[in-house]
Amino acid sequence: MTQTLPPAFLAAVKDLLGPRGWSDDPETLREAATPWRGTYQGATPLIARPAATAEAAALVKLCAQYGVAMTPQGGNTGLIDGGTPHGEICVSMTRMTALRETDTFNNSLTIEAGATLVSAQQAAEAAGRLFPLSLGSEGTATIGGLISTNAGGVAVLRYGMMRDLILGLEVVLPSGEVWDGLSGLRKNNTGYDLKHLFAGAEGTLGLITAATLKLFPKTQRATAWVICASTEDVVKLLAFVRGRVGDTVTSFEIIPANAVDMVVADIPGARDPMPSNAPWRVLIEVSQSDGAYARALLEGALEGAMEEGLVQDAAIAASEAQAKAFWHIRETIPLSKRAYGAALNQDIAVPVSRIPVFIEACNAAVRDVLPTADFVIFGHVGDGNLHYSVVEALDAPPQLKTHEGAITRVIYDTVMAHGGSISAEHGVGRLKRDELARLRPPAATEAMRAIKRALDPQGIMNPGRVVSV
Ligand SMILES: Cc1cc2nc3c(=O)[nH]c(=O)nc-3n(C[C@H](O)[C@H](O)[C@H](O)COP(=O)(O)OP(=O)(O)OC[C@H]3O[C@@H](n4cnc5c(N)ncnc54)[C@H](O)[C@@H]3O)c2cc1C
Repeated sequence: MTQTLPPAFLAAVKDLLGPRGWSDDPETLREAATPWRGTYQGATPLIARPAATAEAAALVKLCAQYGVAMTPQGGNTGLIDGGTPHGEICVSMTRMTALRETDTFNNSLTIEAGATLVSAQQAAEAAGRLFPLSLGSEGTATIGGLISTNAGGVAVLRYGMMRDLILGLEVVLPSGEVWDGLSGLRKNNTGYDLKHLFAGAEGTLGLITAATLKLFPKTQRATAWVICASTEDVVKLLAFVRGRVGDTVTSFEIIPANAVDMVVADIPGARDPMPSNAPWRVLIEVSQSDGAYARALLEGALEGAMEEGLVQDAAIAASEAQAKAFWHIRETIPLSKRAYGAALNQDIAVPVSRIPVFIEACNAAVRDVLPTADFVIFGHVGDGNLHYSVVEALDAPPQLKTHEGAITRVIYDTVMAHGGSISAEHGVGRLKRDELARLRPPAATEAMRAIKRALDPQGIMNPGRVVSV
């Protein structure tokens, strides 16, 4: 239900933001309320687009004064129904994109929340540094959205998630007050570390307007395509390679043989780099300041792993183009899966050591519900994070949809039984809020509710996401 806005509020917002700062055009409103996948339709009475922190603060103050609920929105690429409004006004951050400061000696940059991830990467590159977060939506996803969902991506193994990459934040609190926590400090032991409250909060605790991000030395990479006989070997291989080359392992992605087949069938020009009857492939990336050294390290580690029997076969990319071709297969799995047929997708995590036993138990539990179930299981095995999909070919009798609820429940229960998380990367939003209330310890839910009530007593900041109060 779209909330009815008090006329005095509307007039004040229009006056505050000026003609470029708001829209009530029906098509624009519909677009803002449609998520990236188009899987449902939200609604909003107004889009507000502040252009500066002072404007954002005055806007939130008006919302607090009139009791108007708001949904912060960045690139609207989130996958858990968090950033599309369901009746709230939409506060779009896309006009706040300025690079405020780059500090190469401190290895940090300060950038506004509406800037895209690509623009932050480019700013780092221009300063001769690396901002390591990288993911499929990077051309559209914004710094504020990435922090709010604590996004991950393909380099978490080495650099951590978005939470690990922030040094400071500037946030408009639900009262309209601005907390200026922008800081390049790496050490600051002065009580609660407030910035971490807002990472992963999905806009429920405040509106992020700017962030100071960590930068790293630039690196060159060596990329390998590896064939493995079992998930046990994949997990052992990760430990083996890390034992040999340490934290220079940047990515360690598991890919099942059937996903490679789907990509080859669907993507023009895609080709299996190393056809084999073995069931698993691993994409490994090692990065170093010197590319030749990275390659030598990776070669040595893979030779050792072969001698140990952990690897059936392996190829190290001979060129940047070949490395890109390896990655292209990994990155087009979601697309090719959609072309293959229906899928029930979960983004879960378990401790790395439990991946083999989890996959076996979960597949068996799903097959108890739907004996014909087939699977595509891929992702960031180095972080224990699997994209676990139950798939159904286009020409198969359609059964997946009918069993969706029961299958989801057994997957979640199996994840929890293995000490895991039902949302490793994408967050909670509205989509997983109620399941999490069922599964997480009651004390954790109560603590989250207490934090929400303390910071947002009126419940106007992205209500109904993450935790219900
Ligand atoms: C093709 C594709 C690939 C992806 N790959 C990955 C991946 O590998 N790893 C991964 O972790 N995620 C991935 N994602 C999801 C990823 O989490 C989102 O793309 C991104 O983090 C959200 O950024 P956004 O700017 O689009 O935020 P939105 O979708 O607009 O919002 C996301 C949440 O953040 C809140 N929010 C947005 N801006 C602010 C702000 N300034 N202040 C406070 N709250 C705010 C919103 O209210 C919402 O709850 C992928 C998504 C797509 C479409």
